[in-house]
Amino acid sequence: MSDCCNNTKEIKNETVVKCPSCTNKSKNVKLITLKSMLKPSALETLNAKENHYFCSAKDCDVVYFDSNNKVYLVSNIKVAVHQKDDSPITPICYCFDWTKEKIKEYVEKGLTPNPVEHIRENIKENRCGCEVNNPQGSCCLGNVTKFINQLT
Ligand SMILES: [Zn+2]
Repeated sequence: MSDCCNNTKEIKNETVVKCPSCTNKSKNVKLITLKSMLKPSALETLNAKENHYFCSAKDCDVVYFDSNNKVYLVSNIKVAVHQKDDSPITPICYCFDWTKEKIKEYVEKGLTPNPVEHIRENIKENRCGCEVNNPQGSCCLGNVTKFINQLT
């Protein structure tokens, strides 16, 4: 899966660390993602000098953790986290508001725009803001494609 919104240098810096709660392999996220996603009460405890990681495991309540294993839970995040939330109105593409429900409808009815094409078009125009809009801090396209493949 490619991270369309990350440049090559950042991909090289990618590290994978195990979640202290569920041991899921978790990718590093930028500080700006936590600054954007954390509720004020959690943000005021942020240790900005540490590295931070995103746990994508569905049944794990931890969304972020840092190098000292300080954790930030689902309840500390401003938005519903796609990977940990089954609601049909939770976005998969946070930048352009493609919820599970909307993607399903457009794909099954063959409506335009096709979600993947629509997202790609906006990425091409450099409009995506995954690092501040998406809790995982990286491009949603892999998640969208995976969701669509599960539909058919
Ligand atoms: Zn976890």
